[in-house]
Amino acid sequence: LPVLAVVGRPNVGKSTLVNRILGRREAVVEDVPGVTRDRVAYDAQWNGRDFTLVDTGGWERDVTGLDARVAEQAELAVEAADAVLFVVDATIGTTDTDEAVVRVLRRSGKPVVLAANKVDNARTEAEAASLWSLGLGEPLPVSALHGRGTGDLLDAVLGVLPQPRPAESAPSGPRRIALVGRPNVGKSSLLNALAGEERVVVDATAGTTRDPVDEIVELGGRDWRFVDTAGIRRRVHLTSGADYYASLRTRAAIEKAEVAVLLLDASEPLAEQDIRIATMVEEAGRALVLAFNKWDLLDEDRHELLEREVERDLGPVRWAPRVNISANTKRHLERLVPALDTALQGWETRVPTGRLNSFLGQLVAATPPPVRGGKQPKILFATQAASRPPRFVIFTTGFLEAGYRRFIERRLREEFGFAGTPISLSVRVRE
Ligand code: GDP
Repeated sequence: LPVLAVVGRPNVGKSTLVNRILGRREAVVEDVPGVTRDRVAYDAQWNGRDFTLVDTGGWERDVTGLDARVAEQAELAVEAADAVLFVVDATIGTTDTDEAVVRVLRRSGKPVVLAANKVDNARTEAEAASLWSLGLGEPLPVSALHGRGTGDLLDAVLGVLPQPRPAESAPSGPRRIALVGRPNVGKSSLLNALAGEERVVVDATAGTTRDPVDEIVELGGRDWRFVDTAGIRRRVHLTSGADYYASLRTRAAIEKAEVAVLLLDASEPLAEQDIRIATMVEEAGRALVLAFNKWDLLDEDRHELLEREVERDLGPVRWAPRVNISANTKRHLERLVPALDTALQGWETRVPTGRLNSFLGQLVAATPPPVRGGKQPKILFATQAASRPPRFVIFTTGFLEAGYRRFIERRLREEFGFAGTPISLSVRVRE
C-alpha cells in the first residue's frame, strides 16, 4: 500500500488529524508520557482507496523536544513515505522549525499536501492563506478537532498518492517451477514420473541444443510450468567445464522460476553442491521446497544419519517445506503440490502495516533490543516494502544487533507463517 507520512511540529495537531482520518476515537492523543506508543502506522481508507498512514506524533517523546530534531524526524518519515501530509498550525503561522521541515520536504522530492490546521472559523481562514509563503502550494484549511475541511484534504492526498502497484498481484498462467539438484539425484526420473507422456513442451527453439525448454505439467488438477527442462532431460556428459555450465543453468532456471524444488538424494550423504544450490535459491529470493528422493533405498541407519545431516547442513533453509519421495516407486509424489502451494503462499504474503506494527510493538515491549553504547535503540515502525519474497524495513533510533534481527525474523515467521520463503529484514537507523 502507498504510505502517507504525517509530519509537523509538536502540538500542531498531527495525532488529532490522524484520529480524524482514521474515523475513530482511539486514544492516540492522551498518551502516558514516557510510554512509547506501540504503533505509529495505521491502515487507512478514503473513497475506497487504501493507504498506510504513518503518524510521527508519537516519536516526539522519543527525542528531547529540540526543534532541530523535528526536521530529523520528518526526514525519517519522509524516507519511508510515498507522499507527505505536512501539518502547520494556522493560528501560529510559520516558525523556523516549519521552515526546516520544508527544506527536508523539498530535498526529498516527494509530493506534499499542506494542511493548515486549527482553522475553526473565518478569522483563522485568513491566517491559513498566509501559509502560501511556504512555497508548498495551496494551504488547505482544516480543523482536525471539528472535522472541518478534512474531506477536501483527503481528496488532495489521494491526488498525490501513487496507485497501488498492480504488478504485485499474482501473474496469470501456470506457476513457474525450477527443478534443481546435482546430477543423478533423479531430476529427469521425477519429471518423467510427474509428467508421464502427457507433458507439453513449450518455448522450444529449434536448432540449438542449448536453448532452454519449458514444459507444462498438470499436477493436482492444475498446470505448472517447469522451466528449462532441456538441461534436465539431456544426459550431461562430463567434459571439462560441464559443472560450470550446469551451475549457470541452475542459476538461470532459478531466476526464471517463482519456486524451486531442490531435489536431493536421500540415500547418499548431502553434498557441498546441494547446499550451494539451496543458498542460490535463498539468495535469488525464490520460494523453496526440499524434496528428498530415492526414499525407497533408505534403511533405518541411513535415515537417522540423514536427519543429522539435514540438521547440520540445511539449517539456513530450515523454513522450506520438505517431502520425502521416490521417483521410481512414486511414493508421496502427491505431496509435492501442497508443499509448492505452501511455499508460494508464504512467498506472496503481505502483512498489513497495522498488524505488523502492533505485533512488533508487543514483541519489542516484551523483549526490548539490547542496549548498545549505553543507548536503548527504539523501534519506530516497520513496513513490508515488498512481497515475492517478503521484505521488511524497520526504522529505528539505533543499531540492532544481528542476534536481535534474527530474533525478529524468527518471530515474524512464527506469527505470519512464511513457510517456504526467504524473508529479508533491513534496518534503517536514525541516531
Ligand atoms: P538426474 O541427473 O538428476 O536427472 O537423475 P536421473 O533422473 O537421471 O536419475 C539418476 C539415477 O537415479 C538413475 O539411475 C535413476 O534410475 C535413479 N533414481 C531416480 N529416482 C530414484 C528413486 O526414487 N529411487 C531409486 N532407487 N533410484 C532412483
